Amino acid sequence: MAHPIRRSNAARGVAAGTVALLAAAVLPAGTASASSDTAKSRTRPAQHVIMFDFDGFDPRFLDGRYADLAELPNIRALIENGAHGVADGSYSSYSNSSRTTTATGAYPAVHRNTGYYYNHETGRGVSQERYIEPGVETIAQSLKRQDRTSAYLQWYAVQNYGATYGDPAALYTQPGGNCETRADQAIALLRGEPVNSGGTMVDPAAIPDLITVYCDDVDGVLHDGGFSDPELPAALARVDAQIGRVRDAAREAGILDRTAFLVTADHGAREWTVPLLPEVLDRLSGTGLTVQVISSSGGVPDPASEIVIVASPRTADITLSGRADTPQNARRIARIIKGIPGIAAVRDQRDLRRMSASDKLGDLVVEPVEPYHLSTLADGAPRASHGALPEARVPMVLSGAGIRRDVPLRNVGLVDVAATISALLGVQPPATSQGHVMRGAVERS
Ligand SMILES: [Zn+2]
Repeated sequence: MAHPIRRSNAARGVAAGTVALLAAAVLPAGTASASSDTAKSRTRPAQHVIMFDFDGFDPRFLDGRYADLAELPNIRALIENGAHGVADGSYSSYSNSSRTTTATGAYPAVHRNTGYYYNHETGRGVSQERYIEPGVETIAQSLKRQDRTSAYLQWYAVQNYGATYGDPAALYTQPGGNCETRADQAIALLRGEPVNSGGTMVDPAAIPDLITVYCDDVDGVLHDGGFSDPELPAALARVDAQIGRVRDAAREAGILDRTAFLVTADHGAREWTVPLLPEVLDRLSGTGLTVQVISSSGGVPDPASEIVIVASPRTADITLSGRADTPQNARRIARIIKGIPGIAAVRDQRDLRRMSASDKLGDLVVEPVEPYHLSTLADGAPRASHGALPEARVPMVLSGAGIRRDVPLRNVGLVDVAATISALLGVQPPATSQGHVMRGAVERS
C-alpha cells in the first residue's frame, strides 16, 4: 500500500483498529510456541531483534551524493545479506515525531507527537515534545503486554510509554556519550551483564528479545556543519562500527543465527545557508495583517498578532489567529508565499491531512528549497537540518534471522517498523499500529 507522504491516499489513517487487525490476522500464531527450538524457528523467524536507529542518517550516505564520505562496511555487510531500501519517514520530519512513528507504527495524525508548531492549548511555541496521544500503544507496551522482554538504549521515544528506568522487562537507559557508549550497553546485555538504568544497575534475567540502540552522532555533526563538516566521516564510521561490535557480541553470546538486525533513521538532512524569512515577512506585511515570529522554545505571541510563525530552518509553521483565521486568508497567504523564489511548498490543511500529519500543526507549513532557510539565524554558515518532506526519507536495512537475502525493499516506511519487529518476534503489532509487515523482507515461516 502506498505511504501517504509519498502518494495521496485519503483512506489511510482512518481505521487504525481495522488495519491492526488485518496485520494480526496474517501473523503466525506466536505465543503458543515456547516449547522446542524447532517449533520456535517455525513459528518465530527470530528470537531476538537488534535495531540501530541513527538520528539524521540520510539515505544518501549509502547510495548517491554522499556515499563517498565513509565506507560503512558493517551496514553494507548487512545489506549484502539482507533486505534494503529507502523508506518513508513521517511528516513533519522532526526527530521526536518521526521516532514516535517508529515506536507506535502509527502516523503523526494518530500519535500526535508534533514538532515546531504553535500550541493553542498552552499558547506557546514548541520545538519538540515527549508526547503520545492517550490510547496509542508503543512497541514497548505491546511487547510487555505479550510477555516479551526489551531494552531501549537511549531510544527515548518509549521512555515512560512502556519502558522505564529499572524495569528489567522493558528497560530504558540513558547512557549518554556517543554511539560507542550506547553500544557498550548492548554488548553488556548480550554478555548477561548488568547495565546502568537511571542510576541503578539492572540485570535482566536473559538477553532481551528486542534491543534498540539510539545514536545521534551523525545528526549532531550535520546540524553544526552540514554535509561538508570535517567531523562527519568519523561520525559515520563510528556509528557503523558499533553495528560490527554488537554483531560480534551476539555471535559470542551464541544467538547470532537467531537474531535479526534492523538499521534505520528518523530522517535525513538538507543544507541551508541563505535566509528567506525576511522575504516571507516582507511579502506578508502587504496583507495588512499583523505578523509575528515567535520562538519555538516557548515563545508567546502578542494577543494582537494575526499571523503567528514558528520559524525553523526547514519549515515555517503558520497559524492564523483572531479575525484573520479564515480559509480565505489561508488561501491568500499560501498564494503570496508560493510566489517567492526559493519556496518549495506551502502545505495547507488538506495537504497535511493527506500526509497523515499531526492536526497540531498550523494552518500552513512552508518549506524552502536548498540552500534557503526559514530560521531567524542568518550568519551564512553551512549547516544542515530537517523537518520538511524531502528529508522524510531514511535507509531501511534488515538482515539476519528470518530475513530474506538480497531483497530490495519498496514502498516501506517507518510506520512499518513496529509491525515488522513484532512479526519477526512472533507477536502481534502494537494495538493501534497502522503499518504493515515488510513482507518482502521477512521469510515465510
Ligand atoms: Zn536533528
